[in-house]
Amino acid sequence: MPEILIVGSLNADLVVQVPRFPQPGETISGSDLQIIPGGKGANQAVAAARQGTTVSMLGRVGQDSFGPELIHNLKQNNVDTSHVQTDSRAATGTAIIVVDANGQNNIVLSPGGNGQVSPDDVADASFSDYKLLLLQLEIPIETVVAAAQRAKASELRVLLNPAPARSLPDELISLSDFVLPNETELSLLTNQSVHDIASAEKAAKTLLERGAQNVIVTLGAKGALIVSSIQVTHINSYEVQVVDTTAAGDAFIGGFASALLRNKALEEAVRYGCACGALATTKFGAQPSLPTQAEVERFITQGRPLRSNPAIQQDHA
Ligand code: ADP
Repeated sequence: MPEILIVGSLNADLVVQVPRFPQPGETISGSDLQIIPGGKGANQAVAAARQGTTVSMLGRVGQDSFGPELIHNLKQNNVDTSHVQTDSRAATGTAIIVVDANGQNNIVLSPGGNGQVSPDDVADASFSDYKLLLLQLEIPIETVVAAAQRAKASELRVLLNPAPARSLPDELISLSDFVLPNETELSLLTNQSVHDIASAEKAAKTLLERGAQNVIVTLGAKGALIVSSIQVTHINSYEVQVVDTTAAGDAFIGGFASALLRNKALEEAVRYGCACGALATTKFGAQPSLPTQAEVERFITQGRPLRSNPAIQQDHA
């Protein structure tokens, strides 16, 4: 049986490059369309599977040509898709992404089948066979809560990546063993400004007051911060040549979850996640940039220096 269950989203990302964004009513020509498998659920499934962890995905695609392509892509990445249903009422979740010459993007998200993943879907799955449940917020919130409840009843560990950013019921926060926001998500979740390590610590502590057990804040090039009732620990990032930061967070979460399943201590698992996130920034795209276990282990043993930024050290003093 797979170790990780992911209840979450599968999207087709439709990407076109344009010289500039069109005005309302204007038509402009763009590059050839690229169709790329995405969705935070599917990306994190692939991220964890590339770390040698066994993963099963629960979700919904539509009855169009994208659905089988997304399922095929997951299978090719060794993700079990027996809980991915094809929904006759909905289209496949789609992100329509327009990128201009400056690298800025405009995104329209059409949830499609992701919006149909229901508490009944969760009730139909057997949770006791897994060790860990991984959740994000691209499916209905009542389904996310139902999945977390079932996981706790079956003694699975629950990892919640509260993305895309939104406010959340306290029940979901307290059902989660680990809440893993980035700075933007933590800010929206707590209604507080989060811009450095000190403000991240302060905001994360309000999540502890709302029932969170462990909050791991990812801080981009500043690394990650572990906040729990027994510790506040900053983990430095790795120094890399950044090409594209897309999916750094997904790589981090897949790596962190896999390290936990290999019984690594918390700090070590976060450091491993940081290595995965750093490596993902060295390549273009989302899923193509997610590193394999061999790549991460090579990267770590090559002894890449941890980024030590004087500004961060001061923050921490
Ligand atoms: P998200 O992609 O969700 O916004 P982050 O940007 O916080 O998430 O990145 C996740 C993790 O990836 C960070 O905690 C860090 O370890 C690593 N990372 C991200 N950006 C960089 C970077 N520029 N240099 C080194 N590591 C990075």
